[in-house]
Amino acid sequence: MARKIGSRYTAHQILGRGSAGTVWLGEGPDGPVAIKLLREDLASDQELVGRFVQERTALLSLDHARVVGVHDLVVDGNDLALVMDLVRGTDLRTRLERERRLAPEAAVAIAADVADALAAAHAAGIVHRDVKPENILLDMQGPIGPGGAHPALLTDFGVAKLIDTPRRTRATKIIGTPDYLAPEIIEGLPPRAAVDIYALATVLYELLAGFTPFGGGHPGAILRRHVTETVVPLPGIPDELWQLLIQCLAKAPASRLRASELAARLRELQPLLAGMAPLDVDEPDTEPLPEEPETTVPEPDDTPAPRRGAVSLVPGSASTDSNRDTHTSMRVPAPDELAGGARGTARAPRASGAPRPGSARNRHSARRRRITFGVAGVVLAAAVGGGIWAVSSGDDQAPPQDSNNSAPPTP
Ligand code: ADP
Repeated sequence: MARKIGSRYTAHQILGRGSAGTVWLGEGPDGPVAIKLLREDLASDQELVGRFVQERTALLSLDHARVVGVHDLVVDGNDLALVMDLVRGTDLRTRLERERRLAPEAAVAIAADVADALAAAHAAGIVHRDVKPENILLDMQGPIGPGGAHPALLTDFGVAKLIDTPRRTRATKIIGTPDYLAPEIIEGLPPRAAVDIYALATVLYELLAGFTPFGGGHPGAILRRHVTETVVPLPGIPDELWQLLIQCLAKAPASRLRASELAARLRELQPLLAGMAPLDVDEPDTEPLPEEPETTVPEPDDTPAPRRGAVSLVPGSASTDSNRDTHTSMRVPAPDELAGGARGTARAPRASGAPRPGSARNRHSARRRRITFGVAGVVLAAAVGGGIWAVSSGDDQAPPQDSNNSAPPTP
């Protein structure tokens, strides 16, 4: 059923549903487009509509072959819509769920495309803040590249920045995943370009391994691992690629590569990876969790007043100092403080077929979908500069949602 969006666009059929609204296949004066129609509760928020109009210029400014471009923002009666490039394909999460792991050559080609997109965004002073497979679209009509990879485009710049007001995030839990969060965000520092590099390195690791380096289990455990644990090598990964990955997963943002450097280094590696089969790794042992705790942490309104500054993941931790690869104002918890889950290094991946006591294969990714991550923490920490994070889990029916943002230029 066709639906008019403003005076220039017609939405024809639903392409997909996301956290912020519904994406339609539409038609505009210049041909087919994708139209993201924001949720009604967002569209009826006067303050948000005002911000939406204010942000128009920034959202429309990013023009790059590896970025899903936003052509127009439409405010029309009850409708609030973003008109975007139409990408005929699928998102990277869907491909990953189908194939589990990609050949290194294809994984690196996709990551290099996303690094190109980030280089353009960062040059324009925009930090994406929500790089993850769901926000990477694969253009199936584009030319096939190294390892059979279709061109990858980064999407979802901007929407959550509009939505992420503290007032709204108190009222609405935006669902996301902590798997891709850089340690400095967890610490409560303002997100700079390096958070996107960390997230992209996490995505690349996931494409190679089939799981993220610090994911699995309760969101609190994931956050803690980002801050305190080191990644262990994937069996069979070429050393050059591994070195690149760990450099971009460094706890200290300044140690990570810039997006343009990362894109170049990834492309240099491509000949080395040509024809290589997907890595033969199995999911690491994950401590069996007690029977799926349906934890609900109170909304921020019910929690004690947010603290400014670093978010402590360890009770009683003061912001003294850290060790080699941990952010300067982040305290590394003592082993006894970490008892009950943390092991100092990330869960070690195993070569395929090795015995795996207490394994929790698939629990990992299923859990990722099940966990709703209250954006309060990320937003309070990342956007407001401090706060308390909140989680709730266990809603299988909840649509996958996210908390993406663009941010204004950072000094
Ligand atoms: P949200 O950001 O609100 O969670 P998404 O951007 O993830 O929503 O969009 C939901 C789905 O809509 C995606 O998984 C994808 O299938 C489809 N989609 C989103 N943007 C486009 C686009 N530009 N072209 C084609 N399909 C798209």
